[in-house]
Amino acid sequence: MPIDLRAERMISYWRFVPVQPPGRTTVEITEAWRTNLARCGKIYSQRWASSVGRDGAADMHLSDHDLKQLDEDYLRGLPAESLRSLSGKLLADLKEAHDRLNQNPSNSSRPPSTRAPWEKDDSGVDEKRAPEATEVEAEAPTDRAQADAAAGQDVKPSRTAPEGDGTPRDEAKPGRPGRRKGAPGVSRTQQLPVDAEERHWPATCAACGTPLGEELECRPYTARLELDVVPPDGAKCLVLRQTKHTYLETRCGCGHCTRARPGRAAGEADWTVELSEWYLAGPTLVALICALALRMRLSRARIQEFLHDWLGLELGVATINQCIHEAGRAVDPVVQGEVLRAVRETDLLHADETSWKEGGRLLWLWVFTCASATLFTVGKRTREVLDRVLGDAFTQWLMSDGYWAYRDYNWRLRCLAHLLRKARGLQESFDRRAQPFGTQLLEAVETLMQAVYQARGTPPDTPLRDQHAALLTALFHACTRHAESSHEKTRALAHELLNDWDTFWVVLDYPWLPLTNNEAERALRHWVIARRIGNGTRTNQGTRAFANLASVIETCRKRSVLPWAYLAEVLRQRRQGLPAPALPVPAVLAACPA
Ligand SMILES: [Zn+2]
Repeated sequence: MPIDLRAERMISYWRFVPVQPPGRTTVEITEAWRTNLARCGKIYSQRWASSVGRDGAADMHLSDHDLKQLDEDYLRGLPAESLRSLSGKLLADLKEAHDRLNQNPSNSSRPPSTRAPWEKDDSGVDEKRAPEATEVEAEAPTDRAQADAAAGQDVKPSRTAPEGDGTPRDEAKPGRPGRRKGAPGVSRTQQLPVDAEERHWPATCAACGTPLGEELECRPYTARLELDVVPPDGAKCLVLRQTKHTYLETRCGCGHCTRARPGRAAGEADWTVELSEWYLAGPTLVALICALALRMRLSRARIQEFLHDWLGLELGVATINQCIHEAGRAVDPVVQGEVLRAVRETDLLHADETSWKEGGRLLWLWVFTCASATLFTVGKRTREVLDRVLGDAFTQWLMSDGYWAYRDYNWRLRCLAHLLRKARGLQESFDRRAQPFGTQLLEAVETLMQAVYQARGTPPDTPLRDQHAALLTALFHACTRHAESSHEKTRALAHELLNDWDTFWVVLDYPWLPLTNNEAERALRHWVIARRIGNGTRTNQGTRAFANLASVIETCRKRSVLPWAYLAEVLRQRRQGLPAPALPVPAVLAACPA
């Protein structure tokens, strides 16, 4: 392949230096040239490594096969000359290995998405400015969001919430999104036709409480526009419709003049985004935006592009962000009520956690999932999160990893698939001290898992624990022996097994319980990809909106119902200051006669 040949030639320039580029001396090789050569070398070695597989190690002196045969005894038996020669090869390989280990998106062709969340970005590029970031600052609504909201209002309502907390935004960190003080404002310019009109009468007199009939003389005093994507016949397609809502005032017999008003939810602690019918985006449009952001993992900018290209709708990025925050706030009572209750009252709960970033800060995304609900929450990796979610009365089966905070729960299960992976790692290790324990553990776990599968089909005559008592005893002794091993990973795995010894084998007594924590890992997978695409969230409110919406979406999916119609209905109710409707029951249950 021509590119590889070129790269090879360049490496020979740099590595062995004797070859001079045409018309130059070695001394004249500039820094830029050196960087190019080094980069080509890296790209070359990566391509080569991936094309020849694990054992190939193209520019390594010793292959995996060679390394496995080397140990201290072999080195001790080598004559001095051979030892020096071998040391040279080892040193070269070690340097190469370190080079590869130290590769990161800022010094190699590794894409930024491969950067682990705990790795610092030292490239000097502020990741908050990354165009793909999925959340923009909207703690204080930006000009654009206000312009989009105000476009729906013939008369701008007086805001109940203060415009900001009084701190001048320009003193904030550089690179913060949103309009700078003194910068020209933006107003909504797109004019869309009005497809329908709705008139709202006041129902009762605000003063004396007398019902006010529609026959009374009314006059409009304000109106708002609402954009939504509901086709008139409710068919499954996207139709952008603009409705003009006119609000009327009327005079009661008592002489009091009462006005119909668009709905607005009362303020709630911890939420700065409003829940209000004054917003331009109707409930179904907000649900569509949430679907694009969370389920399709699109950034705010891509959602803007989608709405523009497919619906001819121009919405500001800040408006889109505001919609997502508003929806997150709308479902908050559902998540903290129904979903949390389902998680606490289940017979079997799977829990897991993965890292998450909020404004560059390292946090953890926790998932708690059971048969009928899934709850996400973002917080530190501490006992406090478990206390908050599970309460102090959780006494059901809990499948989790080995994190110490779980150990206080009595009915625990551990994932055997994890154990298998770690055992396989030891078995395949270069270090001969690790291999026997890895093999023994692997065989033991496989045997026990097989026994559990069989027991599920035909219940055994003697309990599984008795059947495999000898195997368990042998494994226990192996663990105590390796708990002092000089090989770190062997020692750690032996400790992990001993710490949770009974928890690992509980499934032998109750074979119908799950063997793995796949349920929780599956629930996290979608959001791990979202984190890699969007670098997590920016603000505390954005994080809570994300966790709430993710919980509702996953819970609905667990129940085989579409989350979007439900989400739109929650918004419709909550914008009027009403309580959120209950979560849909699983489709299977709904089909059953009462
Ligand atoms: Zn009255």
